[in-house]
Amino acid sequence: MIKIQNLNKYYGNTQILKNVDMEISKGEIFGIIGHSGAGKSTLLRCINGLEDYRDGSLTVEGQEVKDLNEKQIRELRKNLGMIFQHFSLLERKTVFENVALPLECFKYSKAEIEKRVMNLLELVGLADKRDAKPRNLSGGQKQRVAIARALALEPKVLLCDEATSALDPNTTKSILALLQDINEKMNITIIVVTHQMEVVKQICTKVAVMEGGRVLEIEDTEDLFLNN
Ligand code: ADP
Ligand code: ADP
Repeated sequence: MIKIQNLNKYYGNTQILKNVDMEISKGEIFGIIGHSGAGKSTLLRCINGLEDYRDGSLTVEGQEVKDLNEKQIRELRKNLGMIFQHFSLLERKTVFENVALPLECFKYSKAEIEKRVMNLLELVGLADKRDAKPRNLSGGQKQRVAIARALALEPKVLLCDEATSALDPNTTKSILALLQDINEKMNITIIVVTHQMEVVKQICTKVAVMEGGRVLEIEDTEDLFLNN
C-alpha cells in the first residue's frame, strides 16, 4: 500500500529524514512512535504530498508521490483521510456540516451527502448530535466528528497524527477501539503517529520506532513488547 525506500528530506541544509525505509501493507494498523522532533509529522506530510522530498522513493499504491501532478495529488488526498491532535473542526459549523465539508468540495449531491453523513455519524455514535456545534462537544466527541469527516470520501488509508494526545486515558481507549472497529469493518489501513507507547500497545499490529529522523527498528508489536 505504502512503500518508502531510502527517503531523505531536508529543510535548507538540515536533514530531517534520514534513509527512511518503511513498508505499510493493506489492512494493517501501523504505528510510528517517537519523541517530539523525531520526524513523524514530516514523514506524514511527505506521504500526503504536502512536502517535497529530494531523494529516495515514496509510493502509495505504486505511484511515486513526488512525480504526481496537481490533479493526481487531489486524488491521492481523497484516498488518505487525516485526523489531528486538536481535531481541526470548523467552530461555526454544525457536526453535520463539518462532516459534509469534503463531500461538498467534491460536489456530491445533497441526497448523497445526507445519506453518507448520517451513516458516518451512526458509525461514530453521534447521530443525535448532528446539529450541535463543536464547542458543545467533549474532546472525544470532537475527535469522533473528525474521524467521520476523514472517512467521508471513503479513503483507503486513515492517517492519525497524535489523534489521542489531547484526550484523557479512558477517552483515548474508546477512540482507539473505534479506530480498530473501522479498520476491521471497512478494511481501511490505519497509520497511527504517536509518542505514547500505550497507544501502540492497544491497537498497532506493527510499529516503526523513530528518533532523530531515522527509523531505529520496525517490529511486530508483540515482539517489541517481548523484548522490552
Ligand atoms: P515530530 O512530528 O516527530 O514531532 P516533526 O516532523 O514535526 O517531528 O519535526 C522533525 C524535525 O524537523 C524537528 O527538528 C523540527 O524542528 C523540524 N522541522 C519541522 N518542520 C520544519 C520546517 N518547516 N522547517 C524547518 N524545520 C522543520
Ligand atoms: P506537530 O509536531 O504538532 O505536528 P508541526 O509538524 O507543525 O507540529 O511542527 C513540529 C515541530 O517542527 C515543532 O516543534 C515546530 O517548532 C517545528 N517547526 C515547524 N515549522 C518549522 C519551521 N519553519 N522552522 C523550524 N521549525 C519548525
